[in-house]
Amino acid sequence: MENKLPAVEISLNECKGCALCIESCPQTVLSLSAPFNKLGYQYAIYAGSGCTGCDACYYACPEPGAITIIKQKKVKM
Ligand code: SF4
Ligand code: SF4
Repeated sequence: MENKLPAVEISLNECKGCALCIESCPQTVLSLSAPFNKLGYQYAIYAGSGCTGCDACYYACPEPGAITIIKQKKVKM
């Protein structure tokens, strides 16, 4: 399956479920999971399409490493 870019990746076990990214996303493509991660928090999940790569969620997130925005495919040289 080809990934749609840009896209957002959320590191399940870095997320503390504060929902700041969800509130900051102008495209409303983020939501909170029903299950809990190993820290005991519900975590942010991406709908899988609709991200514009605006970085708002990245800058809203207080947890370093929890959010990665992917804008380009890695190209093998
Ligand atoms: S980069 Fe922008 S559009 Fe994409 S998930 Fe984050 S806030 Fe939403
Ligand atoms: S802002 Fe960061 S810590 Fe908070 S819910 Fe989103 S990814 Fe998780």
